[in-house]
Amino acid sequence: MSRGRSSWIIATGQAWKLYVTVAGFTGALGLLTAAFFSLTSGGRLFMALAACGLFLGAATFVWFTGTLRCPRCSAKLVWTMVSSRPHSSWVIDLAALDHCPVCKARLDQVGASPH
Ligand SMILES: [Zn+2]
Repeated sequence: MSRGRSSWIIATGQAWKLYVTVAGFTGALGLLTAAFFSLTSGGRLFMALAACGLFLGAATFVWFTGTLRCPRCSAKLVWTMVSSRPHSSWVIDLAALDHCPVCKARLDQVGASPH
């Protein structure tokens, strides 16, 4: 644990977006779980709950891909990573980014410099 090496997401003040995303996916998962269990009691609510869960999950993902941006060039970094990395490691690569893959700005320092 060395000082000054926190993730760029925290350094650029965008950590709250991660919490909103986690909350959105948790809600979507809860709805899908409720939909699944509604099948055991007749399934009348299944379509409604499943549709809400899928919509919330999709909306959360779309928002997340568009909201985490490079503070200098506004590149959509989630989308850049999703489309350029194997889906098993893009989350880790995203959190560990040092430089913007688009404009090469140092992500953990752009927030501190008045540019
Ligand atoms: Zn950039």
